[in-house]
Amino acid sequence: MKAYDGMYIGGAWRPAAGQDVIEVVNPVDEQVIGTVPAGTAEDVDAAVRAARAALPAWAATPPAERAARLSALRDVLAARADEIAETVTAELGSPLKFSQAVHAAVPVAVAGSYAELAATYSFEEKTGNSVVHHEPIGVVAAITPWNYPLHQIVAKVAPALAAGCTVVVKPAEDTPLVARLFADAVHEAGVPAGVFNLVTGLGPVAGQALAEHPGVDLVSFTGSTAVGRRIAAIAAGQVKRVALELGGKSANVILPSADLAKAVNVGVANVMSNSGQTCSAWTRMLVHRDRYDEAVGLAATAAAKYGERIGPVVNAKQRDRVRGYIEKGVAEGARLVAGGPESPRERGYFVSPTVFADVTEDMTIAQEEIFGPVLSVLSYADEEDALRIANGTVYGLAGAVWAGDEAEAVAFARRMETGQVDINGGRFNPLAPFGGYKQSGVGRELGVHGLAEYLQTKSLQF
Ligand code: NAP
Ligand code: MG
Repeated sequence: MKAYDGMYIGGAWRPAAGQDVIEVVNPVDEQVIGTVPAGTAEDVDAAVRAARAALPAWAATPPAERAARLSALRDVLAARADEIAETVTAELGSPLKFSQAVHAAVPVAVAGSYAELAATYSFEEKTGNSVVHHEPIGVVAAITPWNYPLHQIVAKVAPALAAGCTVVVKPAEDTPLVARLFADAVHEAGVPAGVFNLVTGLGPVAGQALAEHPGVDLVSFTGSTAVGRRIAAIAAGQVKRVALELGGKSANVILPSADLAKAVNVGVANVMSNSGQTCSAWTRMLVHRDRYDEAVGLAATAAAKYGERIGPVVNAKQRDRVRGYIEKGVAEGARLVAGGPESPRERGYFVSPTVFADVTEDMTIAQEEIFGPVLSVLSYADEEDALRIANGTVYGLAGAVWAGDEAEAVAFARRMETGQVDINGGRFNPLAPFGGYKQSGVGRELGVHGLAEYLQTKSLQF
């Protein structure tokens, strides 16, 4: 157990304004592994002031120099990958291999992609008798969740820095340690003082103060739809820009011509990875009724394999929430074919990998984001029925389509109301825009589209 001090503000670790702390708990054994300061509006104000003061010089820094800092940041993140993975495993509970392969590795790729984009992006264009300058939006407030704690920070900070913006990050209260490590990495990369600032604290205190601060020009938020809505309302009141990455309830559509075993196995792995705490997880599997029983059997077998390997969910509240959804699924008449609400272990916030069959589209478990290792298998009668079910939620973040023929899968994917679709198991691409249709959010992250979120245009006429 270690007491971590200070907030990273204006290029140094400074004492927090107040005395309150947040306890960081290891979800595997429920032990307190450290404390960090619980920031207040005063800390937030200091951080925003530092970011504002640093803005003119950073915005005027040539893109090639910003690219060099991002490239150095990429290298520091790569050099510290082991420490990052161990830290995420300690505070989030994900198995170390997953922390290495995803939580530590993806941010290296994303930071690298923005080093390259900063160097190659056209921050100036000509149209007719105008020259259009793409200028940084200003001071960015980044409010991030715990499920991919470093990725979600880097997916905001890297494009913001590439654009010439300065940033204040408020990380999730459950995962502040990897955020502190990131602040050290930014420092080591030689990013000038005040360009990046970190305030740890509680959402309704530090998060809210940051979203409300008049010195912030853009709030970029990832998390629940409920908090996202509040942040959008605050931003609307001040006419400041907002980017929201919210929940999802994505469909994994297995068309009749697909390789069923592959589609089911990859689909189950997708839901169980990170203990189901992935906003883009394919938590609804849609199978043609003629192959439904076979698919359910395959899914139950696949899920059982995760029993020993799966990590816990992040905290007791999430565990209870997920268990509540499993109980609700049973109460509404879905059939448990793997897992269930009972705790698989005495200690730690574990939930059994769970699969429900006979799920109908109106059930709570088919509509609401569960954020745990819970898969619902639904049947459809024909392709139109599958499309109606796939599009039948308020969300639209991601999805998957499987078919014997790629063109057939693409034709179906084009009709889905969602921001990302993996075709026959297509891999994650850190350059492709990520973001939601409908209530899954506003705006896009990653790649060139993610960079554009942090820019505004100024047209000069000649
Ligand atoms: P959350 O409350 O929306 O947390 C996201 C971030 O917002 C955290 O940094 C949080 O701080 C902060 N926050 C909370 N209230 C705030 C406020 N009033 N003003 C400004 N910032 C605020 O999400 P959660 O409670 O951790 O998880 C609840 C549910 O959200 C999950 O079960 C899941 O369904 C969904 N979720 C979605 C994603 C996603 O990637 N789309 C990620 C995480 C969670 P604290 O950490 O102190 O709360
Ligand atoms: Mg919360």
